[in-house]
Amino acid sequence: MNEEEKNKETLIARITELESQVYDLEKDLIHDALTGLKTRSFFEEESKIYLDMIHNISAGKRKQWFGFKNLSFLFIDIDFFKKVNDTYGHNIGDTVLKKVAETLVRSVRVGDTVARWGGEEIVASLLGADLNDAKNKAEEIRKDVEALTFEENPDLKVTVSIGVVSSDVSSDFTELIKRADSALYESKNSGRNKVSVYSENSD
Ligand code: GH3
Ligand code: MG
Ligand code: MG
Repeated sequence: MNEEEKNKETLIARITELESQVYDLEKDLIHDALTGLKTRSFFEEESKIYLDMIHNISAGKRKQWFGFKNLSFLFIDIDFFKKVNDTYGHNIGDTVLKKVAETLVRSVRVGDTVARWGGEEIVASLLGADLNDAKNKAEEIRKDVEALTFEENPDLKVTVSIGVVSSDVSSDFTELIKRADSALYESKNSGRNKVSVYSENSD
């Protein structure tokens, strides 16, 4: 190998290394460190694009161009999570959070997004799901979480409460999340380990 070829190899190695660093940085920017779920800001940006598609493009064209008509959201909160931390310790609390996150990711379809909203609150966008599809998916998730077992703590039981909302022709992201949150509140108020769908009187 002559001098010039050696320089070429070195430069390719440097640019490859730099590209890999950029990839890692970008990955960290959109993923929550503990759960590996998407971040809240990524979720918000992505959802706003989907909602713009819904508000500005007819259902027929949307289906043809982007492959979906409906969009629904789930707002998920772990029940009595403070008690889990207090009883079993913060590390087990973290393990619970990770396992619930994994359960959710396994349950949704490719193209759906699951994100950590904050603390022990998780949101999911279900692309192509109408209110009924989303309700069924939420019920499936609720049951899957209820069935989770923890090897080192066989007596530990975890449940989630879920609020469900579907997009419409005009409501923006903030409004839809607010509705999902009020449906969640209804699930909490009616005893937890429940799924509630947003309706006008949820407010
Ligand atoms: P509720 O059924 O009403 O939701 O009760 P809760 O105890 O889950 O609700 P609360 O909001 O009072 O408590 C949430 C707890 O979540 C408190 C906080 O310490 C814990 N938490 C938030 N983020 C983390 C985390 O990253 N790891 C662990 N282990 N705990 C966390
Ligand atoms: Mg909470
Ligand atoms: Mg909670």
